[in-house]
Amino acid sequence: MAGVYISYPFCAQKCTYCNFASGVFPRAQERSYVEALLKEIGAHHWEWRPETVYLGGGTPSNMAADDLRAVLDATPGRPWVEATIEAAPGSIAGEQARHWAACGINRVSLGVQSFVDKEIRRTGRKHTAEMVAQEMRVLRAAAIGSINIDLIAGLSGQTEASWRESLDWIERLAPEHVSVYMLEVDEDSRLGKELLAGGARYGAADTPDDDQVAAFYEMAVERLAALGLNRYEISNFARPGWESRHNLKYWKLERYAGFGVDAHSFDGRMRKRNAETVGEYLNCGWQVGDAPQSWQVGDLPHIDEHFFVGLRLMEGIRPDAQEWQRHDAAIRRFVDAGLLETAGGVLRLSNRGVLVSNEVFAEFLTS
Ligand code: SF4
Repeated sequence: MAGVYISYPFCAQKCTYCNFASGVFPRAQERSYVEALLKEIGAHHWEWRPETVYLGGGTPSNMAADDLRAVLDATPGRPWVEATIEAAPGSIAGEQARHWAACGINRVSLGVQSFVDKEIRRTGRKHTAEMVAQEMRVLRAAAIGSINIDLIAGLSGQTEASWRESLDWIERLAPEHVSVYMLEVDEDSRLGKELLAGGARYGAADTPDDDQVAAFYEMAVERLAALGLNRYEISNFARPGWESRHNLKYWKLERYAGFGVDAHSFDGRMRKRNAETVGEYLNCGWQVGDAPQSWQVGDLPHIDEHFFVGLRLMEGIRPDAQEWQRHDAAIRRFVDAGLLETAGGVLRLSNRGVLVSNEVFAEFLTS
């Protein structure tokens, strides 16, 4: 199964923790960006029909109705098995949801992050828990039957009680899919800069430490499992059959083409990456038939990717004989430390290994 990722980096605000190539840009740049995006998609040589589409960013739910229609019309493969749009809660109207469905969207990912007012305000967002509940009704009424809610463990001011409150809302709203991200404060985010400078505007001093964040994550794993939302990837939980078909590609090394700023592509062998900033992307000089000037070709061999991408899945991976041999020393060390488990030819992260997964993956880059 192959897929398409489309990046739309424009947001209503820059969230305090965010380090993506996204933010608030002049209105005129949005126009130029959509034009560049349409040129890039139009210039693509399709060797396969995409079965999934993912509109991420940024905030693609803020895209003008005509622009969204044009971008999706330019993308082959409709009706897609799965077509997701990331959406900012607090901005979804009934007409808009019906338009998304008419364009072929059948899954919405809501960037809720928290259901607790104080935490939401500190991120710079404006929604409330009740707005999310109302918008889920709007989406369901528009026959969008697959909804993901993003949560962040580790937001400024978060406590065990407030985290439980967010998980209570998950139980109340019963989405098909939940993503839980453990916040690592990036030095380039506004929160990170405040932390370094000792400021107080975004509540940096109130940011939970690593041990607290890990405890919140483990609370979520337990609570979501009790709700029938099983962890199938480090950060992703779903009712059986509602796993993200698109995102599974990233971990199963299937093909995808990415369009727009900072979008990645993988053709089954090589990785490519688009320009990292809106300015650079707009200066690419897109011409139909031209190779995109800003792409960099990665040189990681498939064999290593298999380890540090596939191991994110709870089902683990089935290394072949050469792979077991190639990484023998690292595997033994992590199994002895209780971070990896092996059984029946399968290698997977243990529950403890999930919490330090980056350390495990880093080893496979060098072993
Ligand atoms: S977190 Fe999402 S909505 Fe907030 S600035 Fe970053 S991309 Fe935009």
